[in-house]
Amino acid sequence: MNIKGIQKNVLSLLIQIGKDSYPHEFLAQLLHKDGIINDVLIIPGTITSPVMAYIRDDVRPIMVNLAGTAHSHPNGILRPSFTDVLHFAKIGGQCHLIFGSPFSRDSWRAFHADGSPYTLYIVGDDDWDENG
Ligand SMILES: [Zn+2]
Repeated sequence: MNIKGIQKNVLSLLIQIGKDSYPHEFLAQLLHKDGIINDVLIIPGTITSPVMAYIRDDVRPIMVNLAGTAHSHPNGILRPSFTDVLHFAKIGGQCHLIFGSPFSRDSWRAFHADGSPYTLYIVGDDDWDENG
């Protein structure tokens, strides 16, 4: 199952979580249905600081409908660090979102597990084209 899109309300929620967590990072797992990201799972035990967020191995659930991850970069840099790419592979999923300060509608990017850019459509957005 290819992850093709994200629901607009889920995107809005993630932007809000990024704002609320600032200046700390947040880390969440993204769940999907039929290739559309439709839910967010904030992991209990997620450890955050202004420079890093990670999931303790002992609390990481196994998700069959895992789409990928979302986390924030309080410094606003919208690309994955070397450590991020390692975590993408470790946590799993194919689509990984990074939300940066100032946590506006445009201050986020999607990436493949290898850190390359990922094209993700926003479902429910005016720009969304059902046939696209
Ligand atoms: Zn990061």
